[in-house]
Amino acid sequence: MRLLTHNMLQCHVKKCTDPALNFPLQLQDIELEQVETEENEDLLLNLINKVDYNALTTTAAQLGLVGLPNAIPKDPQADPAFMTRLHEVLLETNITQGKMACRGCGHVYTIKDGIPNMLLAEHEI
Ligand SMILES: [Zn+2]
Repeated sequence: MRLLTHNMLQCHVKKCTDPALNFPLQLQDIELEQVETEENEDLLLNLINKVDYNALTTTAAQLGLVGLPNAIPKDPQADPAFMTRLHEVLLETNITQGKMACRGCGHVYTIKDGIPNMLLAEHEI
């Protein structure tokens, strides 16, 4: 799964509702793969408004992915280096294996072969 997907996942255990804790899920034992895709400016500009940029930069730093500024540039379109790095981090960086732990309830979601397992046990639903 791409880092974009991770940026949109929050813990969905029933009693885990604190937005300060149930997002973003903490990545652990992660294996990454870069998959080149064509850069699409319109898509990126659209995604800039949808992603949680603070969560993205925090996660990127934890994974050792450098080069994203702390804040989105005022005119991202005029900053091709930013657009390219955002594209690489958000859309070309894939998590193939690992775990995502919730800071709120401790639930651990596993990622296997690029697919996150978001299923819960019956008592967590
Ligand atoms: Zn949780």
